[in-house]
Amino acid sequence: MDLDIDTVRVARTRADCALRPGEAFLGGGTFLYSEPVPAQVTGLVDLMGLGWEPWSVDGSGLRVAGTCTLAELVAGPGSLGAPGPYRGLGIVGECVSALSLSAKVARTATVGGNLALGLPAGSMAGLFVALDARAVIWTPDGGSRELPVADLVTGAGRVDLAPGEVLREVRVPGRALGARTAFRRASLTPTGRTAAMVTGRTLPDGDGPGRVLLVLTASVPVPRAQPIDPGDHEALDRWIDSIAAAGGWYEDTHGTADWRAAMTRRLAHEALDELGGTA
Ligand SMILES: Cc1cc2nc3c(=O)[nH]c(=O)nc-3n(C[C@H](O)[C@H](O)[C@H](O)COP(=O)(O)OP(=O)(O)OC[C@H]3O[C@@H](n4cnc5c(N)ncnc54)[C@H](O)[C@@H]3O)c2cc1C
Repeated sequence: MDLDIDTVRVARTRADCALRPGEAFLGGGTFLYSEPVPAQVTGLVDLMGLGWEPWSVDGSGLRVAGTCTLAELVAGPGSLGAPGPYRGLGIVGECVSALSLSAKVARTATVGGNLALGLPAGSMAGLFVALDARAVIWTPDGGSRELPVADLVTGAGRVDLAPGEVLREVRVPGRALGARTAFRRASLTPTGRTAAMVTGRTLPDGDGPGRVLLVLTASVPVPRAQPIDPGDHEALDRWIDSIAAAGGWYEDTHGTADWRAAMTRRLAHEALDELGGTA
């Protein structure tokens, strides 16, 4: 840990979120305190002091605050995912477990911090893209903007967040909560960093009878989502084949590109079978 900073301010109000020169936001700090703080960062603004309700659910859907910890996400929304109106949340626990975090770190790490990092192995993107969520972002001028979580990550470790913008919450629409969802992951070792992750959801019949949405993360630099007809494994293969040309597969010490591509293909076919009703 290299804490070469001058100040930490605890934000209590929105006005406190106005960054001063050299300041950056602090969520749980599990990433910031595990890496050397960038030289230009001389102060941190702790968002946890805002006291946001971690999550809430009603007829319009689920809201998860940027400061909701991963442990709170599992204990709250994750516990609702039994068969019933919230069965889509059945993948919450698996998506949190896909992060190579101890229980202690999961009690501190936040949903907002995970999304704001935009790491390929940041499984909150795979979760919330599968659930068709939108990100609500506070802008420094006092306004806010929204975008699909699918568009938030723009590259490996890059996100569509301007300096001073706060990821306030993610909103999952009610229609996604009752869908069937699927989860698959692969890593080089059982407790290793996720190298390929496939999440998916059944789509409403208006999108085509029995269609499913499949989402790839961890093996690709940005989340990729595609609707597929039930049982259409040829279409799925064509989509997977197209990824090498369109941005390619991600590669690092946690898996080669070829291996990730092969794992992703296998996991995606399994998820299509599960959601398409043939498994
Ligand atoms: C042992 C270990 C294993 C890990 N494994 C993984 C892994 O498998 N996959 C993975 O993705 N990560 C992993 N991480 C990194 C990190 O712990 C997680 O991504 C975590 O979810 C980050 O959340 P945080 O609240 O601690 O973020 P912080 O460290 O507080 O912040 C991270 C970044 O996000 C910004 N930020 C935080 N909250 C907001 C917000 N609401 N709005 C705008 N910007 C914000 C901060 O300014 C900073 O740039 C790991 C870390 C450790 C220590």
